Amino acid sequence: MASLTVDKITKRFGAYSALSDVTFHVEEGSFCVLLGPSGCGKSTLLNIIAGLIPQDAGRVLMDAEAVDHLSPRERDVAMVFQSYALYPHMTVAQNLGFGLKMRGISKTLIRMRIEEAAQMLGIEDLLERRPRQLSGGQRQRVAMGRALVRRPKLFLLDEPLSNLDARLRANVRLELKRIHGQIKGTIVYVTHDQVEAMTLGDMVVVMREGKIHQIGPPQTIYSQPSDRFVATFIGSPEMNIFKGRAAIDGDRCIFRGSGFSLDLGKPQSAVISEELEAGIRPEDVEIVPEGRTPLRGRVDLVSNIGSEVFVQARLGEEVISVRAPKDTSLQPGDTVSLSVPPERVHIFHRGRRI
Ligand code: ATP
Repeated sequence: MASLTVDKITKRFGAYSALSDVTFHVEEGSFCVLLGPSGCGKSTLLNIIAGLIPQDAGRVLMDAEAVDHLSPRERDVAMVFQSYALYPHMTVAQNLGFGLKMRGISKTLIRMRIEEAAQMLGIEDLLERRPRQLSGGQRQRVAMGRALVRRPKLFLLDEPLSNLDARLRANVRLELKRIHGQIKGTIVYVTHDQVEAMTLGDMVVVMREGKIHQIGPPQTIYSQPSDRFVATFIGSPEMNIFKGRAAIDGDRCIFRGSGFSLDLGKPQSAVISEELEAGIRPEDVEIVPEGRTPLRGRVDLVSNIGSEVFVQARLGEEVISVRAPKDTSLQPGDTVSLSVPPERVHIFHRGRRI
């Protein structure tokens, strides 16, 4: 296993800048997720790390040594793509062992590695089947197994679960997490799915339009997003964002939105009289008994998704999304009082969180 450093990588396709000055470091044995919307440059970056396409500027280092002059094979990375790309005429065992055979590894060792990987992935009973006799989830596991048997310095996974249905995806995700715990491999995992990023990553690199917006552990990215983009990209339903300005009222700082006010706690002089945005996660809003707070809304919509209930309410001229108690009896048209702890309000100034 190796550590990985991506140092000021830049890539252009003609006039289009796909990656600008991308820099981050992944510790040996760490699970790093590259997260961002479609087209933000995640796959391009993964291909550059693998050595499949060249960068225009910057360096890729493994264990602090530049590997830019090395071929993909010499870099010793294993890639798993969205498409499984298994050899259809080979059995599962042959598919798993093929890469090792090509590297001239002994039959006994190949057999051992196959058995070990098959056991880890729970596909021991499938070793003699051919890919067409497997379900999507099983094929996906074989594709993963093919990378596992290699014991590469680095695993590069490009949206490996995106062809699976929601349930299978959740299962394979858990398996992947467990396997990472066992093998402690260095992994770079590309996804646009924030749930995948939050559940799998030791660290998450959030990207947009070829640039890094934030790097950090999932919980930090969630609770202290560096900017409005990260704040709204992560979390479902999305963080509520309201435009307004802050003003001092006695010993408090008050955010005045369109037709409502929020208590921000102790005054923060830096933000007074500028145009701001207040961000509030739906789960940080509490529905309290009528009249207990001045923050009042009118229920527009109640969506019950079984495990959770979300309420949309009119708040002045805005709409706020609130996570309600599961047993809520709220109906559209009801009036609600809402409470938001000042420390849970994120304030953005020109898009940056302050
Ligand atoms: P997705 O999640 O949809 O796979 P991504 O974040 O992986 O997206 P990339 O595939 O890295 O995005 O593409 C980044 C940008 O670079 C896109 O706008 C894409 O159209 C462009 N791009 C990628 N490859 C090429 C190419 N060979 N020639 C021209 N433009 C390209």
